[in-house]
Amino acid sequence: MTTRDDCLALDARDPLAALREDFALPEGLIYLDGNSLGARPKAALERARQVVAEEWGDGLVGSWNSAGWRGLPERLGNQLARLIGAGEDEVVVTDTTSINLFKVLVAALRVQALRDPSRKVIVTERSNFPTDIYMAEGLADMLQQGYSLRLVDSPEALPGALGSDTAVVLVTQVNYKTGYLHDIGALTALAHECGALTIWDLCHSAGAVPIDLKASGADYAIGCTYKYLNGGPGSPAFVWVSPALREQVWQPLSGWWGHARQFGMEPRYEPAPGIGRYLCGTQPITSLAMVECGLATFARTDMQALREKSLALTDLFIEQVQARCGRHPLTLVTPLEHARRGSHVSFEHPEGYAVIQALIDRGVIGDYREPRIMRFGFTPLYTRFTDAWDAARILAEVLDGETWRDERFLARKQVT
Ligand SMILES: *Cc1c(COP(=O)(O)O)cnc(C)c1O
Repeated sequence: MTTRDDCLALDARDPLAALREDFALPEGLIYLDGNSLGARPKAALERARQVVAEEWGDGLVGSWNSAGWRGLPERLGNQLARLIGAGEDEVVVTDTTSINLFKVLVAALRVQALRDPSRKVIVTERSNFPTDIYMAEGLADMLQQGYSLRLVDSPEALPGALGSDTAVVLVTQVNYKTGYLHDIGALTALAHECGALTIWDLCHSAGAVPIDLKASGADYAIGCTYKYLNGGPGSPAFVWVSPALREQVWQPLSGWWGHARQFGMEPRYEPAPGIGRYLCGTQPITSLAMVECGLATFARTDMQALREKSLALTDLFIEQVQARCGRHPLTLVTPLEHARRGSHVSFEHPEGYAVIQALIDRGVIGDYREPRIMRFGFTPLYTRFTDAWDAARILAEVLDGETWRDERFLARKQVT
């Protein structure tokens, strides 16, 4: 079994170790929740000061031009594109994942309505992140045209759920609970075979696993920038549309930022050519500017190197927890198979909420998702091998000592 000295040696020869220096992490804390809110890039503080004091304070309205504010969604989109295998000028960073999902879902249904209006089913997983399901439900309810959702109970059941009635397959590439990793190319090929379009939610995979949207044949992709991309709390999300589909229909939130001539102030909407049509209204520049600080660190490495370290970290954590906690009611719900595993590890425990609270009290930050799931996110940009090792040891101590039974760990907080 791996010793702590082994982990110290792994950290010492880790080619990515220096990247941790880009982040402001509190001393003594083991942060395993970068899959919920990424750590703060040190550069974000100075960049925030610059945006607020200089660009806003001194530059005022002129900064839309002089500080490049107007082009920020496109510029960030191009920086992000290389992490997800998208082309130049194919991605914009804007709005939230939920809102971008609404845009691409309507667009996909409109494309299908032109091809085969009898397709009315949106296929997704019951265990998909709730907002993905809720947005699709709300859309079906708004349209009142017979659209419905088909929820499948396991990744393996997806192919069998596709048919001649399927309009869209909406899948999150890495499941937020289990960490199950889908094969975008394989599922997209199956969907296309039966005439369906695919929407990929990359919230738990952008910046965590290598993605090649173009090679995989995907149709639409969305995702957030505040998890593995370290853009800051609530930082704007991204949207990509296959160039083959992009100009076929309007997206529904046809605001002035997506107009072909934004300052033409014309009384009729005409969508911009290209991905610019997926913008809606005025962008939150202070928040958007932070995204650039998160993306900057990725320019110093590549997704293959990050993936290698991510798998080594999750392998180590699984090995350590299984070796130390075998006599406790802990069930691994994350696939052991590398090809099926994202960058977080989840265990089920009947008192998972309290155990996570007890861990947080000991300086190990993971999180909890209903029902009974304890999640531990591994961010190869800043997580060390010793962090994974220490976290497993502390988890074993919390379980062995039953410290989670303390009353203060049982009460649910607003955000779990
Ligand atoms: C985090 C996450 C979201 C978040 O959507 P917001 O609109 O940013 O709140 C959506 N989908 C998935 C799969 C996520 O993991």
